[in-house]
Amino acid sequence: MEKSLDYWVRPSLRALSAYPVPDSSGFIKLDAMENPYRWSDEMLDAWLARLRDAPLNRYPDPGATRLKALLRETMAIPAASELALGNGSDELIQMLALLLSGPGRKILAPEPGFVMYKMIGLFTNMDYVGVPLRGEDFALDEAAMLEAIEVHQPALIFLAYPNNPTGNLFNRTSVERIIRAAPGLVVVDEAYCAFADDSFMGDLPRYPNLLVMRTVSKIGLAGLRLGLLAGAPEWIAEIDKVRLPYNINVLTQHSAEFALQHYAVLLAQTEQIKQDRALLAAALVKLPGTRVWPSEANFILLRVADALGVFNALLERKILIKKLHGSHPLLEQCLRITVGTPEQNQQLLDALQETIN
Ligand SMILES: *Cc1c(COP(=O)(O)O)cnc(C)c1O
Repeated sequence: MEKSLDYWVRPSLRALSAYPVPDSSGFIKLDAMENPYRWSDEMLDAWLARLRDAPLNRYPDPGATRLKALLRETMAIPAASELALGNGSDELIQMLALLLSGPGRKILAPEPGFVMYKMIGLFTNMDYVGVPLRGEDFALDEAAMLEAIEVHQPALIFLAYPNNPTGNLFNRTSVERIIRAAPGLVVVDEAYCAFADDSFMGDLPRYPNLLVMRTVSKIGLAGLRLGLLAGAPEWIAEIDKVRLPYNINVLTQHSAEFALQHYAVLLAQTEQIKQDRALLAAALVKLPGTRVWPSEANFILLRVADALGVFNALLERKILIKKLHGSHPLLEQCLRITVGTPEQNQQLLDALQETIN
């Protein structure tokens, strides 16, 4: 006799809904930390010419050798470190969890943080431990982290540096103490490093249990789905065992190689976004009753009197941002705004000025 779906699907997964992605067609999209800029026509033509040579009839290079060499160069990856690539850094998080999951195995991360650490823990049957950040400034609570590490002995610790959704860099010394105290792997997730002033990439040779994760998503290539993990060759070799053989497709490999050969264009866009972040933050602070936190990423966290009201008012004006209220107790009445083009930022500010007064 056939048993029901409720019998077969684990209750922890049955209770979930699929990752919600709102329909954004026709909207000014300031919800997902995308780079708002497109390439020039000349660059688009050169890219398309490159894709003509991409052999679609062949499986991709499983080691993505050329792409890895370019990533090494552009991201200053230490010579002694090895590299693993993922279909977005989300896939790398999943590979790490697949490798280390087992009865009683735990993932630990500060909260509020990137939701995929917890979700992928659920998918892979790992326990998840969230350690609250300090409420006022979202700084790492170092004592609480060290205590939780001692108690839970996590297999995996994720530290987003800068953190999403709070936008701040954690205290470097605290991160170093956590790396030294951790019994397992510590992944410093540098998804936003292009917008920040610090990185742990250069620290890799000093810590055998440290991995640095990056993605090209936030620097203008979110559509490609490409993330990378750098670290000790011994660990990367194990991670490579749970990687599906051709996880980085031919179009992504060729397109990413092209983009990295035009890295200056991406960097110029990133610089523009950093400048506009300062202008946007300064304007947001002036709105009555709003609190704005400093950001080292391409988004800004703010608190308003009525987050749902503001979110809906912006939706009516065809502007999509992220409502964080309800996702974590420390994010009460909070919203997250991705920095857009100067025109988009101005439209957002105009809409906010109509709404908040
Ligand atoms: C956006 C984001 C990622 C996911 O990146 P993809 O490479 O697009 O999967 C990883 N970590 C953090 C903290 C992020 O905000």
